[in-house]
Amino acid sequence: MDSVGVTAAAPPDAGPGPAWQSKCPWGAPNTTSISCSLADVMSEQLAKELQLEEENAAFPEVVAVAEGPFITGENIDTSSDLMLAQMLQMEFDREYDAQLRREEKKINGDSKVSISFENYRKVHPYDSDSSEDEVDWQDTRHDPYRADKPTTTPRRGFIGKGKDITTKHDEVVCGRKNTARMENFAPEFQVGDGIGMDLKLSNQVFNALKQHAYSEERRSARLHEKKEHSTAEKAVDPKTRLLLYKMVNAGMLETITGCISTGKESVVFHAYGGKSATEDKVIPPECAIKVFKTTLNEFKNRDKYIKDDYRFKDRFSKLNPRKIIRMWAEKEMHNLTRMQNAGIPCPQVVILKKHVLVMSFIGKDQIPAPKLKDVTLSSEDMKKAYSQTLNMMQQLYKECNLVHADLSEYNMLWHDGKVWLIDVSQSVEPTHPHGLEFLFRDCRNVAQFFQKGGVAEALNERQLFNAVSGLNITADNEVDFQAEIEALEKMNEDHVQNHGKKLSTFSSDGDPPIYDE
Ligand code: ADP
Ligand code: MN
Repeated sequence: MDSVGVTAAAPPDAGPGPAWQSKCPWGAPNTTSISCSLADVMSEQLAKELQLEEENAAFPEVVAVAEGPFITGENIDTSSDLMLAQMLQMEFDREYDAQLRREEKKINGDSKVSISFENYRKVHPYDSDSSEDEVDWQDTRHDPYRADKPTTTPRRGFIGKGKDITTKHDEVVCGRKNTARMENFAPEFQVGDGIGMDLKLSNQVFNALKQHAYSEERRSARLHEKKEHSTAEKAVDPKTRLLLYKMVNAGMLETITGCISTGKESVVFHAYGGKSATEDKVIPPECAIKVFKTTLNEFKNRDKYIKDDYRFKDRFSKLNPRKIIRMWAEKEMHNLTRMQNAGIPCPQVVILKKHVLVMSFIGKDQIPAPKLKDVTLSSEDMKKAYSQTLNMMQQLYKECNLVHADLSEYNMLWHDGKVWLIDVSQSVEPTHPHGLEFLFRDCRNVAQFFQKGGVAEALNERQLFNAVSGLNITADNEVDFQAEIEALEKMNEDHVQNHGKKLSTFSSDGDPPIYDE
């Protein structure tokens, strides 16, 4: 809220301001005042404008070259109080956990039976900066994010002994009992040496302590909950910002300048590349950062792309939604890598971190290359673009063993006199149960675009489908053609059901090689 503030106008006799304003190490407070009438302040219109202004400042729609950068090494940590607080909190939690680990070690010693404070940790493994973070994806059959073992703090019952002690209201026994029960508090709750001494706590004191201990625990639990489920509507929730910040902080990125695109499922940022930690990997001078949205709604209807993809089959059912989103990012990375290896013009993968994929930027000086739909090409360039697209589709199918599955003039960029393919998180292998249908849809989009664009030699969608897949479907109308496609898919599925593996006769020259990453 530091950018816009309605402050009371300064009194007319206010002097040049107190001395601390110029000397204060925290800098002079922003005293810009907007003088306005009460009616203005109450006005809904004004509120909306302020809100809009603020939103625009935080989530700029397009890259404004003149504007300051979105995230740099200098500005990020202080650009938002919330951000700063969160980073401090994270740091604090980490130290706290380290202390907890030391105590755990001290208590366990060499004992064969050990207890664990795992459940009391503040920083969950997926928040931590451990090497695990560097691994972009793990085999999820063993869930690496689950705490190792649940813990219970030992419960020490106190059984009253002796014939004199008869009622549970006995002050001494009750007091000792209360003291003993303090052990049930969370281990980080400092109860002093009371347990070891013959300390008798009155019910009143004990209850107050208990109340406090439990509310502390609940607070901590709430924090965890928020950390896990804070899937903000905007893609750059605090966790994502932190991830981006870390990339800048590590020097991998120089500056994140702003947002190129906000889609339903992702937000794309532009960044200037920094230095690579390893010599062999060069970070491109300009990068695009695709942040897969951590809101789940939009991804639900994409289930079919991934659920039936055998590469992800085993894992899908065992994943929680957050991991599924990471899987989209992972898929995009793998698919881009395949394409890169086949020499198809596409962004080069720089790094994948959780749901954030960094790749090379297609464009120059912060200006992204235009989509085919937005660019006016000469008829010669249009022809060139067509034959290149046909080639790329064949390469994608035969060499990468992939079907784009969202190919259209929206996901093709025109840069350096050629077409670049982007947006391949949903791409599947041709043997995917709906792979051929997706391919047909791609062919329809491409054929229509180039036919409308005046490319005389552009194949129609059915010819294009056969040219790309190497199949020879002879139906001369769309309905029959699609029926044949579905029949082929079904045949393949039945084969999978019966033999547990894919049929290898999809293309005339054999199944494209299964790419092994
Ligand atoms: P989605 O369509 O799922 O939101 P895309 O991968 O298509 O995601 O990215 C959205 C937009 O961001 C693209 O249309 C393109 O304008 C831009 N964009 C994405 N990746 C890059 C890149 N590597 N270089 C330049 N611009 C990019
Ligand atoms: Mn797209």
